[in-house]
Amino acid sequence: MSIRPESATDLLIDGKLIPASGGTFDVVNPATEEVIGQAADATAADMDAAIDAARRAFDTTGWSRDHSLRARCLRQLRDALLAHADEFRELTTAEVGAPAFLTGGPQFAGPAEDLGYFADLAENYAWTRDLGRAQPMGIDNQRELRYEAVGVVGAITPWNFPHQINFAKIGPALAAGCTVVLKPAPDTPWAAALVGKVIAEETDFPPGVINIVTSSDHGVGAVLSTDPRVDLVSFTGSTATGKKVMAAASESLKKVFLELGGKSAFIVLDDADLNSACSMAAFAVVTHAGQGCAITTRLLVPRERLDEAIAATRDALAGLPPGDPADPGTICGPLISAAQRERVEGYIRLAREEGGTIEIGGGRPAGRDRGFYVEPTLISGLDNSARVAQEEIFGPVLVIIPHDGDEDAVRIANDSPYGLSGMVYGTDEERINAVVDGVRTGTMGVNGGIWYSADVPFGGHKASGIGREMGVAGFEEYLESKAVARPV
Ligand code: NAD
Repeated sequence: MSIRPESATDLLIDGKLIPASGGTFDVVNPATEEVIGQAADATAADMDAAIDAARRAFDTTGWSRDHSLRARCLRQLRDALLAHADEFRELTTAEVGAPAFLTGGPQFAGPAEDLGYFADLAENYAWTRDLGRAQPMGIDNQRELRYEAVGVVGAITPWNFPHQINFAKIGPALAAGCTVVLKPAPDTPWAAALVGKVIAEETDFPPGVINIVTSSDHGVGAVLSTDPRVDLVSFTGSTATGKKVMAAASESLKKVFLELGGKSAFIVLDDADLNSACSMAAFAVVTHAGQGCAITTRLLVPRERLDEAIAATRDALAGLPPGDPADPGTICGPLISAAQRERVEGYIRLAREEGGTIEIGGGRPAGRDRGFYVEPTLISGLDNSARVAQEEIFGPVLVIIPHDGDEDAVRIANDSPYGLSGMVYGTDEERINAVVDGVRTGTMGVNGGIWYSADVPFGGHKASGIGREMGVAGFEEYLESKAVARPV
């Protein structure tokens, strides 16, 4: 089988590839602005059929109890995806604008490989745990805990790292024994639809266990947060939408798992190598044009070295121009859409209005009149209360802010509605550890350390979300425990 975009015009419902009742909608290449094909445009009726299939597969088949079938299907899927890696990587660059170098890692190959980690968990997780004896009300009881799947999962995902986020939801949910309806973002339907084709044609997943519903209408995905047949909504996206999902889910009291926005701080201590820190901060913010929730977008530097840090960061950004994502040397590709570019440009305008200085960038790159590109941009002259320092921009835009020592840096890092990730650069271990302990986020890197891996739980505090994705903690989000006792 070949993974061609022409094959992306079907939904996967109840094990079958079927056209959507809403016809199709356009898929646009963000680097060229060209319509490159079509995706299935599901309606609420298609979503109803998908939820029905998932419910039936959970309630009437042995899927949730058959650990070895789940492990086998997940490994089959991993192997089939990796066998198509070249086609998937090329299409991911075309659809997402993801730089080619990232498709060999977190934009496709890494997360596909990680499905094997979840297959191993399906097999090796301690599904029952002995709690020993106790004498409640004077009666001797032998107790145990059993772990079982939550049920039907509605997975709603964004466009920025579509494969990573889709697999980080379907991998653990299916391994746990849940059945799933996946609803990807309208900007990146192919990433999910083509996985649906591989599932239907190259794996033994039983019908209804995994359903994939693409749609141009956000309202179709919203059904997953209201429908009583869905037991858990696993959502990744903006904080504003996450709040709506949580509110909607309260009516039928489903479990809600949220991975939301971020405004993470890159803290440079006064004993750090300033040049390497600023180069790393510049590299991080331009990667995939800054469209990553965990990207560090506030650079906190010692006040006495502010000018030096501005110069070093400006030089580093000057060496990272936006380029064609298909070029293997490109780090900064386009933004996903015209709307996203308008949003980023609006924030750059706002920085100027608030009295900030644009040290480099601030506009569209010369010579690129097609594609949703924005220049890597460095903003100085504003403090942490500025809107560009408080709100998520989701573009290649870095705000540099001076701090007055380690405690002040931690204070500024925490002065944010978000709490997703962060980085600290320094030399003294004790001081580094104090900063790591002080910052309220779900992940922290030290001196360029990379925490991202299948076995590492990822998630946030405050407005960055509820729960953890990946790792054993991410798998356990899809489980319920059942306590069982018998007299002895
Ligand atoms: P978004 O919130 O606009 O959309 C995300 C998904 O929700 C899409 O599939 C969309 O169709 C769907 N949706 C929209 N309205 C809905 C509703 N009312 N009910 C149910 N579903 C609805 O986000 P986006 O613009 O696609 O993605 C960018 C955002 O995602 C950024 O804020 C980014 O920080 C966040 N993000 C977070 C993480 C994380 O793990 N914390 C990872 C990647 C992206």
